[in-house]
Amino acid sequence: MTLAHGPQTLAIPGPSIVPERVLRAMHRASPNIYTGALVEMTRSLVPDLKRVARTGQRLAMYIGNGHTAWEASLANTHSRGDLVLVPLTGAFGRGWVEMAEGLGLRVETIDFGTASPIDAARIGERLRADPAHEIRSVLVVHVDTSTSLRSDLAAIRREIDAAKHPALLQVDAIASLGCDRIEMDEWGLDVLVAGSQKGLMCPPGMAFVFFGERADRARETASCVTRHWDWRQRADPPTPSHRFNGTAPTHHLHGLRESLDMILEEGVEAVWARHATLARAVWAAFEAWERPGGVRLNVRERAHRSHAVTALALPGHGTRLREWTERHAGLTLGIGIGMAPPDDPRWHDFFRVGHMGHLSAHSLMGTLGCIGAGLKAIGVPHGEGGLEAAAAVVAGG
Ligand SMILES: *Cc1c(COP(=O)(O)O)cnc(C)c1O
Repeated sequence: MTLAHGPQTLAIPGPSIVPERVLRAMHRASPNIYTGALVEMTRSLVPDLKRVARTGQRLAMYIGNGHTAWEASLANTHSRGDLVLVPLTGAFGRGWVEMAEGLGLRVETIDFGTASPIDAARIGERLRADPAHEIRSVLVVHVDTSTSLRSDLAAIRREIDAAKHPALLQVDAIASLGCDRIEMDEWGLDVLVAGSQKGLMCPPGMAFVFFGERADRARETASCVTRHWDWRQRADPPTPSHRFNGTAPTHHLHGLRESLDMILEEGVEAVWARHATLARAVWAAFEAWERPGGVRLNVRERAHRSHAVTALALPGHGTRLREWTERHAGLTLGIGIGMAPPDDPRWHDFFRVGHMGHLSAHSLMGTLGCIGAGLKAIGVPHGEGGLEAAAAVVAGG
């Protein structure tokens, strides 16, 4: 017997659940891509995406995933041999480093480990030790999805300004756009990259690069940029077919129009507030369940936790819990990433809960209830009262 029949759910940190409304919007015949409704509708996406990122700067859209956005941002701002500084709080920062190295950039990292936030003062210190301004960009992952650490972007901007250093502040908001508060302009972010498949509730396949004036000036001399990655052609396309450098991602565009309608109907601030409250419900449940040798939240301080994903340790049993919830409860949880190498037995000690995008109190309580059942079923030490604690948050307590 299994209790997994009936609705299945996905609580992994990307791709996230695609709402029925978005799926229905995508279910249609192929349109004319050269003139007419699709071209107009595509244009309408730009101001609405900027509303979500809180920016009046420019936006280049690409067909691709998060890695696409990583490469596009770097190609438009750098030449081979440029030096970039990358504070690390997990595996995704390391991924951006690899993209930079692949483009022939020199990379210097400051590793904050897998459970501590970025100490912005260390970035300021390093920039002050660079009077020749060799460092061209600071690359920061807003929410590193592997550890669920969230970085204080405004604090990093203040340090760069205090050091009077011209380095661009480039931010990976792939896991946080549409989940955690982001203020691209107010926080002085020069470049912000995102993807369609997390907070924006669409299938993977679209990448977004928001860029400001200073970043666009770097584009003047960046020799890494090629015609396909050129953000000027993508942001201000001379013809509709320049927008994506070829065939537009027709169905993704319709899906995205619908998901942006959903976000703007709810209100960007309300979307952030919903994520914040539901994240507190997740934390309350796990804080009640935490026991020595049992389940443990990776990030200890609430202020440094993402509202979109929670990374957890469950020594010896992370994989067993995931397998149990999938097999017996119809719930797919996220694997641990970057905490131990895949061929190391400790790889099985970690798992993640995605709580991004299309998520209500109802669906989250179901996820937490099944995790609680899983902890009992596999017989690991855990405290009681996790669901009651989560319910108290949902109730407004
Ligand atoms: C998911 C994710 C990526 C990678 O996106 P892909 O679509 O898998 O290329 C990069 N950075 C962060 C923070 C992410 O969450």
